Amino acid sequence: MTAFALLRESCPALFSLMSALFGTIIGSFLGVVAERIPPMLLDDEARINLLFPASHCPSCQHELAWWENIPLVSWLALRGRCYHCGSAIPLRLWLLEAFTFLFFGATAWFLPDIPTLFSLWLLSAFLLPLALIDLRHLLLPDCLTQPLLWTGLLVQLAHPTLPLSDAIVGAVVGYLFLWLLYWTFRLVTGREGLGYGDFKLLAALGAWCGWQALPSVILLASLTGIAGYCLFIKSNNKAASIPFGPALAVAGVITFILQSYSLTPLIICQMIFDIFSIRE
Ligand SMILES: [Zn+2]
Repeated sequence: MTAFALLRESCPALFSLMSALFGTIIGSFLGVVAERIPPMLLDDEARINLLFPASHCPSCQHELAWWENIPLVSWLALRGRCYHCGSAIPLRLWLLEAFTFLFFGATAWFLPDIPTLFSLWLLSAFLLPLALIDLRHLLLPDCLTQPLLWTGLLVQLAHPTLPLSDAIVGAVVGYLFLWLLYWTFRLVTGREGLGYGDFKLLAALGAWCGWQALPSVILLASLTGIAGYCLFIKSNNKAASIPFGPALAVAGVITFILQSYSLTPLIICQMIFDIFSIRE
């Protein structure tokens, strides 16, 4: 940790660039996670795991050479097409690598300290594939939500930002809150409003951010969900089922970053209110 802190202090631009390049490698792996976990869980015939078979073209099955597998660069060099058969390589994989490039580079620049930075990267390495899988398959797999919860508790043990009891209560209350909401909604309307994956994801965010952060996570997730619905889903007329996981993921990352500056959305609202009341 000290070596990273020294590098960041002496040459922040180099540290940010190295973090961004590391981010593209992580983004490339997270793309594999997001693409392979749904068939691993849903398709009994699929004989794949996260490591085997090696990266290949899903259309012609040819195994990618090293130069076809360079994060960010290869997709651009190949103009988004397989070198052998010409079939399209999904743009979403390149966008994910571009996002992690920017996200890792930017957070390396502005987050207050190295342990918080590495914790945030770990948190987002779970939340990104969860959000992508939920967007495409309406699924939040246990094999990601449960390790995310344990990891949150272990991070609080290794680098405590809040009492461990707050993290444990956060996990329990996060689960129970959405569980109660689910059953209330179901008893009143006869329909299912949320999935069990949502409860587990909020439990995990409770473990990472503490029970005190849950109201702001839920508030931010609701606002993100409404914005996402208005911007994307409503215009595509696909309103049948709306994934809540991506909104929870965005809210979790924002809350974690705000907490690293000892801020909450309520404090920010208060600050904005104070600024306006001073002007008047
Ligand atoms: Zn091909």
